[in-house]
Amino acid sequence: MSINIYLDNAATTPLMPEADMAMRRYYSEDFFNPSAVYSKSKRVKEKLEEARNIIAGLIGADASEIYFTSGGTESDNWAVNEGVRRRGHIITSAIEHKAVLNPVKNYVKSGGMAELAGVTEEGFVNPSDIKRRIRRNTVLISIMTANNEIGTIQPIAQMSRIAHEYDVLFHTDAVQAFGHIPLNVEELGVDMLSASSHKFNGPKGVGFIYIRKDSGVRPFICGGGQEKGMRAGTENVAGIIGMTEAARISCERLERNAAYCRKICRHITERIMSEIPDTVINGTTDESRRLPGNMSFGFGGIDAQSLLVLLDMHGISAAAGSACNSESAGYSHVLEAVKTPKEYIGGTLRMSIDAKITWQQADYIVSVLREIIKNIRSKND
Ligand code: PLP
Repeated sequence: MSINIYLDNAATTPLMPEADMAMRRYYSEDFFNPSAVYSKSKRVKEKLEEARNIIAGLIGADASEIYFTSGGTESDNWAVNEGVRRRGHIITSAIEHKAVLNPVKNYVKSGGMAELAGVTEEGFVNPSDIKRRIRRNTVLISIMTANNEIGTIQPIAQMSRIAHEYDVLFHTDAVQAFGHIPLNVEELGVDMLSASSHKFNGPKGVGFIYIRKDSGVRPFICGGGQEKGMRAGTENVAGIIGMTEAARISCERLERNAAYCRKICRHITERIMSEIPDTVINGTTDESRRLPGNMSFGFGGIDAQSLLVLLDMHGISAAAGSACNSESAGYSHVLEAVKTPKEYIGGTLRMSIDAKITWQQADYIVSVLREIIKNIRSKND
């Protein structure tokens, strides 16, 4: 039997069978446009609103505060766009996803004002640094809940409190966090929160954004009146239904899955650190402040791209740095921000597991890695 171990869940996850089943009929027998007036359409519309209610309930929001989008990138762009629309100063962090960083960069190119807060060597944004950067005209602060490369979980509640002391809108990119760690918008105190279905075993090309009532956030895509006139376009009904089923089940299993993933990660990490010399852990070693399934190691003297090819030959699919950035040349901006030395950045392997991994597979991964790295190093000597 061929070995097939998938360690790239931060890039995307397989579709849950329950989500697959739930969404199918909305491509075929229940294909109707939810905006039409006949009864068949009305049933689809009701299903859509039921989905909105479920998603809202999972994060402690009101259904009227949930807008369906095409995924994390669109939700993040919407949030940044609100800052751009207000033509003020934007604060974000140096380790955000490009879905936040690039629209902010474009804003600056067009004459807008923005700045990037740095992070500690463990990958944490410092709330007092955010406070220090707030100016009279600051309109938006956007800090991710959890990082896609190194998994660090940020102190969001602390930062949103600071933002609100100064009447500044606070957005969090929770694309890597939703379905993996508990999230409640009241406890987090955020005004906007982005999530993406394919990161929690839902279909691709669909996501949502939470926008707090009375936050004054304006429409993002204009056209027909869908999504209460805030995000026009015929709804991706099947995608939304599939996402909602995946969200419901992910949140239901969250605690058990997270505890199991943490145990496996701890085991793999302990073995790697004791059996593979010249290795660093990127991000924090405090597992309570790291995504349950995220591991990132820098191996000295190793080219991560070659390592990935060799792992692939052993049936293991993993990533170097961030898969989302694989088309862009150069070093990972996240690893640079946490000041990982260059020799380890080039040799960084990200492994993002899910709860389907077995102990046997965990041990196989370490043994394969140890042998491959030993071989490469002995050839380099
Ligand atoms: N934000 C983060 C933290 C991500 O990891 C990703 C995707 O990797 C995105 C945003 C973009 O999400 P999507 O692929 O749904 O556009």
